[in-house]
Amino acid sequence: MRVYGAAMNTNRRITLAQRPDGPVAAECFAADEVDVPVPGPGQILVEVSWLSIDPTIRGWMAYDTYLPAIEIGAEIRSGGLGKVIESNNDKIPVGSTVFGTVGWQQYAVLGADAMVVPEGVEPEAALSVFGVTGLTAYFGLLDIGRPVEGETVLVSGAAGATGSVVGQIAKIKGCRVVGLAGSDEKCAWLVDQLGYDAAINYKTENVRKAINQHCPKGVDVFFDNVGGDILEDAIANLALRGRVVMCGAISGYNDSVPAPGPNNLTTLISMRGRMEGFIILDYFARSGEAIADMGGWIMEGKLTYATDVVEGLDNAPEALDRLFTGANAGKVMVKL
Ligand code: NDP
Repeated sequence: MRVYGAAMNTNRRITLAQRPDGPVAAECFAADEVDVPVPGPGQILVEVSWLSIDPTIRGWMAYDTYLPAIEIGAEIRSGGLGKVIESNNDKIPVGSTVFGTVGWQQYAVLGADAMVVPEGVEPEAALSVFGVTGLTAYFGLLDIGRPVEGETVLVSGAAGATGSVVGQIAKIKGCRVVGLAGSDEKCAWLVDQLGYDAAINYKTENVRKAINQHCPKGVDVFFDNVGGDILEDAIANLALRGRVVMCGAISGYNDSVPAPGPNNLTTLISMRGRMEGFIILDYFARSGEAIADMGGWIMEGKLTYATDVVEGLDNAPEALDRLFTGANAGKVMVKL
């Protein structure tokens, strides 16, 4: 028998009970207890300590995306952090902290692709600014959007984990930055704390007019986390040779039937614009570049990050819901 501590012979999991149709409901989840998994050759056993809660989890629960759908009865797929408690891999010693696809469970087996978190990096930073959302902001903006000093960058979902880092990097690069967010409080945070030049509350303002007012020379880079009507309003304000970074479209993730799309995509032709999607997985091999730059900016006081921590594995479904209601302020994560 393998004993890891009091009552640690079982592995508690939150699993997929049924696929969501519309907003993710409590019935989609179940909890069970199974044996602690056994690592094979080259693998490690991890005691999970933190979960990264990302909107893409909703897609994985529902259908095949850039990854296959989660199987019914399997633990919810999720990035996260954990401590290595058994290792069959010389490069990843017992006691180290790793990031990987741990799932919503107490113990996970990971392969050689688990990333060792350097000592001294706080878990909240490892899961936000140096995690998936920070890397998404860095590569999405700099590689896909390619902002030039003096240009105007518009960000939707601007107060979220990804958007809040995008706006700050755009400021570091010398751009005018305008954000869209769902409350006056979030808008005030963008301008007062993060240095955005202006922020628009998309729930109370006429978005198309407000973008026009705050981006008088047009939008050179639109970093889109939201899609739908907001994408249409941003395209309507595109500058000549404007670029649209298609990062996410959270406004439509809960739709059973896709909403009619933006009807002005031909503006991309007249404005010689570029719209380009990307998946952050393609950039993981280059994460060192992003972490070196962003770590330096944090030390210089130019970049900050916010986290939204929910306690307890059983509260992971509630944490996921926070992304879709906008209750979160910062990167959503679960502390086990
Ligand atoms: P966030 O921390 O930004 O949380 C999601 C936010 O979206 C909420 O706080 C809410 O803010 C906003 N939102 C929710 N529903 C709506 C709606 N109907 N209309 C407008 N805004 C809404 O999450 P992440 O930073 O993790 O993810 C942001 C986006 O980036 C998502 O679309 C995600 O899928 C995408 N993504 C893409 C990746 C890639 O590789 N391409 C990788 C990682 C993330 P508010 O209060 O302002 O409404």
